[in-house]
Amino acid sequence: MFSSSQQEIIKKANLNHLLVDHALFEQAIQSKSCSHLSDHSLLGFLQITNLLYRSGEPLISDSLYDQVFLSALKTRNPVHPFLSTVEPEPAFSGKTVKLPVKMLSTEKAYDLESIKKWVARIEKAALEIDIDSGNLIYRMTPKLDGYAAYDDGSHLYTRGDGRKGTDITRVFERGLVVGDNGERGQGAGEIVISQAYFKEKLATHFENARNFQASIIKEKELEEHALTAIKAQAAVFFPFSQLPDWRGLAKELLSTFSEKVEKVSSLVDYDVDGVVIEIIEPTLKKHLGATRHHHRWQIAYKSNLESAEVKVLNVISQTSRSGRVNPVAELEPTRLSGALIGRATAHHYGMVREMGIGAGTVIELTRSGMVIPKIERVIVARQPQIPDTCPSCGHSLIWDNDYLYCPNSAHCSAQIENSMEYFFKTLANVDGFGRKTIEKLHTAGVISVYQIYQLTQLQLEEIGFGEKTAQNLLGQLLRSRTEAIEDWRFLGAFGIYRMGLGNCERLLQYHYLPEIFSLNEDDIIDIEGFAEKTAEVIVEYLVTIRKDFFQIYDLGFNLITTPLLADQQENQVSPIWSKQIVFTGTMQHGKRDEMKKQAKQLGAKVAASVTGKTDYLVAGDQVGEAKITAAREKGITVLTEEEYLQLIAS
Ligand SMILES: [Zn+2]
Repeated sequence: MFSSSQQEIIKKANLNHLLVDHALFEQAIQSKSCSHLSDHSLLGFLQITNLLYRSGEPLISDSLYDQVFLSALKTRNPVHPFLSTVEPEPAFSGKTVKLPVKMLSTEKAYDLESIKKWVARIEKAALEIDIDSGNLIYRMTPKLDGYAAYDDGSHLYTRGDGRKGTDITRVFERGLVVGDNGERGQGAGEIVISQAYFKEKLATHFENARNFQASIIKEKELEEHALTAIKAQAAVFFPFSQLPDWRGLAKELLSTFSEKVEKVSSLVDYDVDGVVIEIIEPTLKKHLGATRHHHRWQIAYKSNLESAEVKVLNVISQTSRSGRVNPVAELEPTRLSGALIGRATAHHYGMVREMGIGAGTVIELTRSGMVIPKIERVIVARQPQIPDTCPSCGHSLIWDNDYLYCPNSAHCSAQIENSMEYFFKTLANVDGFGRKTIEKLHTAGVISVYQIYQLTQLQLEEIGFGEKTAQNLLGQLLRSRTEAIEDWRFLGAFGIYRMGLGNCERLLQYHYLPEIFSLNEDDIIDIEGFAEKTAEVIVEYLVTIRKDFFQIYDLGFNLITTPLLADQQENQVSPIWSKQIVFTGTMQHGKRDEMKKQAKQLGAKVAASVTGKTDYLVAGDQVGEAKITAAREKGITVLTEEEYLQLIAS
């Protein structure tokens, strides 16, 4: 009943042993029932169907999977760990590689009000660097709803986590072209399929365009449909820089906003889920910069969000790595914006209690691009469903403000497994330590990350990993320690309460990593952005993880130290701090690139060519008289290399 490519996928995922029940599986599919399956076989069946679905080779339909088999598991064991593996995995496997450029996500807005606020922020920033905000040009492009990738000219990478992706250059080798006869090497874009073509040729074979896009990048040989679509140039890689657009001033943008959104959305024959608005002035873009998640000079607008009234069937609980028990509402399966939604999350149990969320509650569900939508509004309240005990370990729960906690951190399976998984997920430089591996290790008695690093080939094989897998896991552990990684990311991997990656980086801008364990509350409150309550919790938590932390730290990771802000600020007294400098000509005292780097370290902004905003033109040998005269006429100070060196030494 499995095709040869499906069998290969199963084999690759080390799930071969589950195939012993294949006759039972076949019966289950035919009868659309799983009453004859033991708990063990049902789980095996779900694992296989889920794997095949994620690999783009589904065995059964989405709805059959959700409504018959997954719901049977929920009935048998509402807190089965399999149910919490909800994040979709990439539809293919492969080694992760560092992306040439970080691919940040885009900030999103759902109403005009938020767009106006964003424009106001842009205008304020323009003022800061003396740019006339009244003349700023805004660009609006369709927001492609395809498969994000990055083309550096020789390789194509998936977006991955934005920092590391997977090499999928093979799709170009298979004949995929850049949309609109564009050049390779234009950076970020999406693999998309023509809407008209999909409707005419593919709609009977694929449930939606997304499934088709995923099928194009698969490692295995392509099927006929995909190849034909590539040949017909209906499936293409479309770089963002090449998108058709609208350009204009802020006042034009805001006055007829929805009209423009509609017009721009229809500029391409690809699936679009909104528009992207950005500014194009390079200096301002640079000045605005980025947060950890998105560029400040760009925003996405999504309109026409579909919403529906949906009935809650049941509220189940899941214990996170920190012991926090989170509510998940199971819903009557509802199709929304093309996806079948079966569950939604509430923010916390305080909300469940207050809003009356339980079996029979009717909620308003809005899908906004997230895998699991959040419950924002209750229409008909019912008796709230609140657990007394931890769904993972059975320990009685305690309330802390709006949150429910399982205090059994030392022995609670969910907390142990989630913490170990979080560690590797946050490091983001290893493959192989996903949920399945962690569960297997935990079942064999491994309860800490440190223990994982102590495992030997023999032990891994005894736990049940094949020889090759065991070797690979050990190789990955070594890689995690040798590959350079930011120290704030390493700290973040320990999942300290209230210490997300942003706070980790901020803390390390004031104190070196090993020293944070001797900080007191006041030291932390002194740092901008840390409140008293947060500082108290952090200090408390650092004490409890100190031993575990240093055990792992002492294994020797290749950490990149965050520069202390105090050291950076010393540069502010440098004579070229915040000055804009252009270097030109041949330099005598070292390479020009070296000089640029040094200037940047001293806080200068190094530009490639002279503009009205340039402060200094450093002219080496062989610079034409005309160039120098032109610069002087613009009021720019022209320095010889010698004069420049004296200036920075002063
Ligand atoms: Zn527990």
